[in-house]
Amino acid sequence: MAQPENVLILSNCSIVDGQSAERREGMHILMRNGLIESVSDAPLSSSQGRRIDLRGETVMPGLIDCHVHVVASEVNLDKNALLPNSLVAARAAGIMRGMLMRGFTTVRDLGGADFGLQQGVEEGTILGPRLIICGKGFSQTGGHCDYRGRYDNRPAHWLAGKLGALGRVCDGVEALRSAIREEIKGGGQFVKLMANGGVASPTDPVNFLGYSRDELRAAVEEAEMAQTYVAGHLYTAASIKRAIECGVRCVEHASLVDAEAAEVIARHRAVAVPTLIVFEGLKQEGAELGLPANSVAKIDDVRLYGQRSLEILRDAGVVMGYGTDLLGPLHRLQCEEFLLRGQVLPSHDVIRSATLDAARVLRMEGKVGCISPGAFADVIAVQGNPLKDLSLLTNQGRHMPLIVKNGDVIKNEITV
Ligand SMILES: [Zn+2]
Repeated sequence: MAQPENVLILSNCSIVDGQSAERREGMHILMRNGLIESVSDAPLSSSQGRRIDLRGETVMPGLIDCHVHVVASEVNLDKNALLPNSLVAARAAGIMRGMLMRGFTTVRDLGGADFGLQQGVEEGTILGPRLIICGKGFSQTGGHCDYRGRYDNRPAHWLAGKLGALGRVCDGVEALRSAIREEIKGGGQFVKLMANGGVASPTDPVNFLGYSRDELRAAVEEAEMAQTYVAGHLYTAASIKRAIECGVRCVEHASLVDAEAAEVIARHRAVAVPTLIVFEGLKQEGAELGLPANSVAKIDDVRLYGQRSLEILRDAGVVMGYGTDLLGPLHRLQCEEFLLRGQVLPSHDVIRSATLDAARVLRMEGKVGCISPGAFADVIAVQGNPLKDLSLLTNQGRHMPLIVKNGDVIKNEITV
């Protein structure tokens, strides 16, 4: 027996999709069985399915966050890693639901989420965004995934098997190759390396470099063998240049980039995912939420340079994805990144970073971040024009009366 078709027509909408700085008005969208089938300035019809009249409201592709950690329910990452796996998974479901209800229909997890969580979303057990995963991130001993403090000599492999650990500690070319193969076998779709010091880790100042050039090159080769890429946790200009020269193609954070490093990123056709809001959130609430003092002391080393980094990357022509990197209760700030970016970039550029350019970062052009035939039927409706007012994308989805993912209506407050 034939399955009933899942058809949804959105009529009379204005499209904002990162392609143009103007809204495309008077548009109609037909979605069938999880995909967008047609987009037209003439009315569309189908013998079956439902129709929602948007009466001129804006329709956007579902938003994309290129840097999240869905398993991070605690700001203190050592504490997070110690949580029972069952509790981590249960909390991750809540965190993902929150993301979807803010309009994010695709998120890329930069360390922590596993195949099980991804499958949970695919089969509908978890209500959440499409999840792109790398498995665990990698850090050298004393690097950004090594949460052991100065006098903590637990063996590094204690993190293995802990769903709440964002990464694993691994040293040496051969060990790294083998561990990367394990993550890819486990479903990792790209490789995350901590190639620079970090804030939320105890013994690595932000100007430390992570991994030798040989290790970086080996990781890049392993990623390329699996037809994918390495994303590097990178703040400083020196770390960025070194990593790009070794083949890293996605620069996470880039907060301390300079014009020369930005030019290196652009020349190698690599991309960047700035993450400003996490540092604002940690500055305001981190200490209260349990971020250790040695991490609190490092926040401003990065936070103060965020907006300048956007201008430097923009001037070099670097493709930028929208990223947030939030932890614990700070996840509610996921849309505030739009406002921080909007203070220095035109709103069209900011919207493009969470749609069209985010799809480039994820290497999923044409599938997500656009309203085009063949793309996943992931769309949101926004009351008003976000090109004129980015705050319409904030407030936990309050101004988004409609959220559709994979052709399924997740939220509909449009009264006919
Ligand atoms: Zn991160």
